[in-house]
Amino acid sequence: MCGIVGYVGSRQAAPIMLEGLKRLEYRGYDSAGIVVCSDEGLTLCKTKGYVDHLNEMVCNGDALTGSVGLGHTRWATHGRPSDENAHPHLSDGGKIAVVHNGIIENYAQLREMLAAKGVTFKSETDTEVAVNLISYFYEGDLLKAVSEAALRMEGSYALGILCEDCPDTVVAVRKESPLILGIGEGENFLASDVTALIRHTRDVIYLEDGEIATLTKGEVKVYSRDLVEVKKKTTHIDWDISAAEKGGYEHFMFKEIMEQPEAIRKTITPRLRGGRVVLDGIDFSPEYIKGLRKIYIVGCGSAYLVGVVAKYNMEKMLRIPVETALASEFRYASPLVGEDTLVICISQSGETADTIAAMREARRLGAKVLSIVNVMGSTIANESDYCVYTWAGPEIAVATTKAYSTQLAVTYLLTLYFAERLGIISDESYSELVAALQMLPEKVEEILKNKEHIQYLASLYFNKDNIFFIGRNIDYALTLEASLKLKEISYIHSDAYAAGELKHGTISLIEDGTLVIAMASYVQLLEKTVSNIVEVRSRGAEILTLTTQSAEEQISHVSDNVITIPDAHEMILPSLAVVPMQLFAYYVALSRGCSIDKPRNLAKSVTVE
Ligand code: GLU
Repeated sequence: MCGIVGYVGSRQAAPIMLEGLKRLEYRGYDSAGIVVCSDEGLTLCKTKGYVDHLNEMVCNGDALTGSVGLGHTRWATHGRPSDENAHPHLSDGGKIAVVHNGIIENYAQLREMLAAKGVTFKSETDTEVAVNLISYFYEGDLLKAVSEAALRMEGSYALGILCEDCPDTVVAVRKESPLILGIGEGENFLASDVTALIRHTRDVIYLEDGEIATLTKGEVKVYSRDLVEVKKKTTHIDWDISAAEKGGYEHFMFKEIMEQPEAIRKTITPRLRGGRVVLDGIDFSPEYIKGLRKIYIVGCGSAYLVGVVAKYNMEKMLRIPVETALASEFRYASPLVGEDTLVICISQSGETADTIAAMREARRLGAKVLSIVNVMGSTIANESDYCVYTWAGPEIAVATTKAYSTQLAVTYLLTLYFAERLGIISDESYSELVAALQMLPEKVEEILKNKEHIQYLASLYFNKDNIFFIGRNIDYALTLEASLKLKEISYIHSDAYAAGELKHGTISLIEDGTLVIAMASYVQLLEKTVSNIVEVRSRGAEILTLTTQSAEEQISHVSDNVITIPDAHEMILPSLAVVPMQLFAYYVALSRGCSIDKPRNLAKSVTVE
């Protein structure tokens, strides 16, 4: 998920890689390291913390001589951020070095297999399994060993590999994680992101899934999975450097919106095994779940709003009372929490001060805390009793998109897990839901393909002063997030209301031309929402409706404009309905010339109470 750089040529490799790693810093990371290869073998330096620290350790690169090398910034997934877990990793015996982005999903089985053959491991990472698997197959032909290992690794990986027997070559392989080869003159480059190599060359080859590459200073060769050489086309990049840092996107927020299918896939897929939800490290007995008097879901901002959606799904399926609480309120409200309460804390960074305080209070009162966190090794992840990570990768934009979506995905997994444990779900419904979850990333992709329509709608409405969101049931929960997103980045005042509630007060604010956005994905209550739309429309409101493809006809006659999302299982609809609203907020803010990635007064990780 984080950064890889590689170099082979005649210059000193270390300074080039350190500069490349610096360029990848924007992605967020927790440790950094480099390895160089020379006739004396492999020399390596790695550390928890920043590239600047690594730079000092190797005297700006002068301490490592060699003109072939690899560098890495790690965003920990398997094993806490530490010097040992930082990349590069060496094979047992030290002959081969590897840097890795991604997750080897079957690492536990592979580790067991290798340990049984006598391999010893120094770190907790899945990456060390990869390097030892390559070493296991290595009999003098590195390319062959990499291809054999790649056949056995499941999950996602971009790997850069060095072997002391071939000190003039870098080998690379990828599956579901980007890798780019940079073509220079008398030198060649490897990177996970063009940002890291664009200072040196603009001619690149994009490696595709399953392909393996060898780079020497004079030549770059690409092979298919079964080692047949493939001819690749070279692409010339003409972006300027600042655009490339965002992978070509104008804003991190937009990039992160577009990354959602992949982030959701990474969060869900490793946890659906053999048609069942498997949550490693979590083993609640049916008695414990049955004995729960209440589940609390605690968070701040959008993380709290994930809880508001989850409450609807969980209560409906599990018939256990679920209460949502703002972390800043929870701890001072004498919460009714004890051993018979499960507290679910949600935080992207895992460092949100209010949520940390709420978590500690809940544990002090005797409750078990399960956290949903994106940053590995963070305070909440470490201190909670159980943690389910979202594999969203680093989120940089202040306004969350992919963290929200992956947190939501984890709540579906939890709901299904509890339902199965309680024995209250039929096999048929369970399989139907598992299938729906598997389809989710594709459906989000489908919505993203229609982004131009949302951009058009934003161009109609960007100069409104007030916008009201209405929805019923789960759509109401979503209006809260849609309204927050819009406020955060466009500075337009907006409010979210349960559709049936407007007439009890706020309808007095509706006048000619007021925009009301009606979220109506929950088709069971479509007719009720239509009535509420008619109420505001007859008072002059302009109506933008969001609904499912099959319900469009029933609602378009009362709407000025309609956004549709694909039909899907009711439980996962929120994950679809939120995406057009993120895009709407983004495009409105863009039209208004706002500072999208860093809205005024806001910070990404709020570490103060
Ligand atoms: N899964 C690997 C680790 O935890 C790689 C993480 C990354 O992509 O930075 O070390």
